Amino acid sequence: MEINNLSVYYGDNEAVKQVSMPIKENKVTAFIGPSGCGKSTLLRTINRMNDQIDIARYKGEIMYDGVNLLDKKIDVVSLRKEIGMVFQEPNPFPKPIKTNITHALKFYRTNKKDMNEMVETSLKQAALWEEVKDRLDSSAHSLSGGQQQRLCIARALALKPQVLLLDEPTSALDPISSAKVEDLIIELKKYYTIVIVTHNMEQAARISDYTSFMYNGDLIEYGDTS
Ligand code: ADP
Ligand code: ADP
Repeated sequence: MEINNLSVYYGDNEAVKQVSMPIKENKVTAFIGPSGCGKSTLLRTINRMNDQIDIARYKGEIMYDGVNLLDKKIDVVSLRKEIGMVFQEPNPFPKPIKTNITHALKFYRTNKKDMNEMVETSLKQAALWEEVKDRLDSSAHSLSGGQQQRLCIARALALKPQVLLLDEPTSALDPISSAKVEDLIIELKKYYTIVIVTHNMEQAARISDYTSFMYNGDLIEYGDTS
């Protein structure tokens, strides 16, 4: 993926200013910088989450597999399957654990046996299966915050994405849950291209391969995490 001269505006406010950089495949790219510097806006632009905000406008392009993701003709529903997203606050559906996974799969006309397999596979991939396999029909809200976050990751993985966007995925978690989610992210980078927003420099150093420093909408530095 390649970001070319990307600017994002909310009204007259240029929240992201002419950013150009690659997002390397099967690596973790971290965005860090002070609050309000445009990290989230940039992340949300990659799978067009900002489209829900009428006033967001884009300039420039995000090229992915030869396609500009900012093209008006892009089908954003398909885009969001391909490029999954996890937010700061764990937001599982207030439904049974299992339903959190199967809900997404409904769109695929999957049969029951395959559904159950997908539930197991996704929960295993999110390192949650052992903790929940005996309570798949319990409400997702009965899980701890860290488990809920791993469930949200499992829900995204069930759609078989290529890219995962993580917006401060551990900020709302206690240190132990946070460490588990970090370990999971490190495991997942074997299979996915990951872009993570964090305000935690140590976290960026622990898990990312590349780091982008933003300040006031500008990309001020991009390079190998060292
Ligand atoms: P960060 O993720 O680095 O904290 P954001 O991307 O959230 O930064 O914000 C960048 C700028 O865009 C800020 O000036 C913020 O006020 C503005 N902004 C963010 N979201 C919206 C929105 N939904 N509507 C209008 N302005 C927004
Ligand atoms: P196993 O057959 O023992 O599951 P794998 O080589 O398939 O061994 O997987 C090794 C680890 O990587 C397991 O924890 C598995 O859940 C995880 N894994 C495998 N494929 C994926 C994938 N596409 N996404 C995320 N995790 C995966």
